[in-house]
Amino acid sequence: MRVDVAIIGAGPAGSACAIALRRRMPSLSVALIEASHFDTPRAGETLSPAARPLLEHLGVFDTFRAAGHAEVHGTTASWGDASPHDNDYIFHARGPGWHLDRARFDAMLAEHSATLGATLLLGSAVSEANRSDDGWLIDLANGRTIAARFLADATGNAAIVRRFCGARNVVVDHLVSFGRFFDDDTNADPRTIVEAFADGWWYTAALPGKRRFVACMTDSNVARRLHLRDAECWTRLLETMPITGGIARHASGPIVARACGSQRLESAAGSDWIAAGDAASRFDPLSSQGITKALRSGVFASYAIGDQLTTGDNSGLRRYDRFIHSEFIHYLRTRKEVYRGEQRWPQNQFWSERCSVESVHSQSTIAT
Ligand SMILES: Cc1cc2nc3c(=O)[nH]c(=O)nc-3n(C[C@H](O)[C@H](O)[C@H](O)COP(=O)(O)OP(=O)(O)OC[C@H]3O[C@@H](n4cnc5c(N)ncnc54)[C@H](O)[C@@H]3O)c2cc1C
Repeated sequence: MRVDVAIIGAGPAGSACAIALRRRMPSLSVALIEASHFDTPRAGETLSPAARPLLEHLGVFDTFRAAGHAEVHGTTASWGDASPHDNDYIFHARGPGWHLDRARFDAMLAEHSATLGATLLLGSAVSEANRSDDGWLIDLANGRTIAARFLADATGNAAIVRRFCGARNVVVDHLVSFGRFFDDDTNADPRTIVEAFADGWWYTAALPGKRRFVACMTDSNVARRLHLRDAECWTRLLETMPITGGIARHASGPIVARACGSQRLESAAGSDWIAAGDAASRFDPLSSQGITKALRSGVFASYAIGDQLTTGDNSGLRRYDRFIHSEFIHYLRTRKEVYRGEQRWPQNQFWSERCSVESVHSQSTIAT
């Protein structure tokens, strides 16, 4: 198969990029290559109200609404003191947010790109990509090879451009989520609940099908000290949480660890590649902005790719790179302010590092 653009990864970033490309530049052929069949649970349950204009822009808002994802009108947080505070979206001009069935949401976006003419390849993990005379040769684990003029990396945490394009990571912290699924027949409010503790924070969110996800978020070195991979230690810690511990009972699965520290690529685009979504920059899940950011960067990436391939103008790629960088710096400032809102454990490494006055400047220069 030969295409103009190969987009690897059909999460929100990859699908948004494919949809936007097909809508704006229908002369460009697009392959959207996805390792999974959207048949396993995915992280990220709350879609912020800010996603609405992006879904409208992509022409999928009506389909999204019809899918019946539960509306959510705010979050609840025990942050700064022990009592829970509600943060309502009631004053949000864009209306409510949503509690997503993530796998269904991702599948809907990917299928929409196919209706617009993108070639959607599911169950097709990319194992290798190498430059050729006129672009890229992309090998799939199932033995197929795809030739493409341009490569877009939307593989989330996998961030395959690090391997194939030599892009370097700027790492800010080593936050890890240790999460577990629970049965939940309480019909509890679908609000996401966040609860700070001495070494990090817990969060829980209701899922479709009377299930619930509960996760402890802390730094990888603290997690080792707390033995969070051990189900008994994890459960004992959960039971000490005044709010989350009272909601979550009947665990029904193993503990799933997932890296979710703040990081960005030193450069998010080159002359024949671009990275979008978490592959380009990753925000702390506390922000609840990951999916919205992924959609936005997928759309912006499509503009830069379109200009490059149709007119040879690479200024869009440079603008895109600057945008990802400045968005991340802005995010780091907000992150610091939010973490400084919690002052109960100033001596603990988890909190002191995030609240440090120097953090925005010094962290943005750490490269690994
Ligand atoms: C615990 C946790 C809770 C979160 N909660 C929220 C929340 O409430 N709200 C929110 O907005 N965000 C949340 N996030 C963040 C959110 O999940 C991500 O920001 C978002 O999913 C990023 O979208 P993406 O398209 O960049 O990547 P992803 O959604 O990760 O999609 C990447 C895709 O690439 C595919 N892929 C990977 N490697 C390959 C390969 N080699 N070949 C082909 N395909 C490949 C994967 O199968 C996947 O479909 C949370 C994250 C975590 C860890």
